[in-house]
Amino acid sequence: MNIKTYLLCGTAALMVASCGGNAKKQVAEGSGATADTLAVRGDSVYTLAVQVGDVQAMWIRDNAADRLMPRTLFPDASDALMDSLGLAGGVPSTVSTFYVKTAGAGILFDTGLGATDSRLLSGLQTFGIAPADVKYVYLTHMHGDHIGGMLTQEGEAVFPAAEVYVSKPEYDYWMADKANRQQVATMEAYKDRLHLFQFGDTLPGGVVAMDAVGHTPGHTVFQAGGLLVVGDLMHGAALQKVHPEVCATFDMDKEAAIGARRRFIRYAEENGLTMAGMHLPVPAFD
Ligand SMILES: [Zn+2]
Repeated sequence: MNIKTYLLCGTAALMVASCGGNAKKQVAEGSGATADTLAVRGDSVYTLAVQVGDVQAMWIRDNAADRLMPRTLFPDASDALMDSLGLAGGVPSTVSTFYVKTAGAGILFDTGLGATDSRLLSGLQTFGIAPADVKYVYLTHMHGDHIGGMLTQEGEAVFPAAEVYVSKPEYDYWMADKANRQQVATMEAYKDRLHLFQFGDTLPGGVVAMDAVGHTPGHTVFQAGGLLVVGDLMHGAALQKVHPEVCATFDMDKEAAIGARRRFIRYAEENGLTMAGMHLPVPAFD
């Protein structure tokens, strides 16, 4: 995906009118993805809709302030390597979520941190989507920066009509220990509409759940047509896409995480898929 073309347009006075008016502006060379909606707040791009074949993917950046993953998150990488990549000061990143429309369903993938500056709900509103309109939430895994937007401060469900899907190994891992209070409380709030899937299952909307275990015990990559929602496959893409053997400290099973990273980067390349990643840099497509 040619992000540079898009960013050039996005940063040139952030010309929403000319970018947005240029319907179906081509942003992805070879993958067939096109951008048709662009929203900005302040001087930062925070939502973008791209068309990938029959699938529309709407990116919402949950974090308000720009984010660098700290160099200390990647202790396996040498200083020489970080210097050579110009990443000694940190790796550009985001906390992102995606609302994806397939022929059969509209699906929210992960819900960000849910911090006081969260843009998830205002980002959804940008696309005309109210919380009650969200019918499906698919979770890549259950870290706090992926399920944080599911509950209000009072512990109520933010998405009153949403059916929630998470892999069985992921659910089992977090629910086995009551000390995982955020995960337990979140699942409790959605317990009447919770669905545990197995890897290989096809979910509503024709979305296939794929085994990406390593980052967490049930980490999942989802494929919707030409779109691959890769969750936390990479925390610092500028480093890990060229050096998939480098783990972030958050990767719970490093060997498995490295294997999954290699496998899905190759799978996306070989099949011309557009990756949507929860910590890819703006605009979180690759
Ligand atoms: Zn994460």
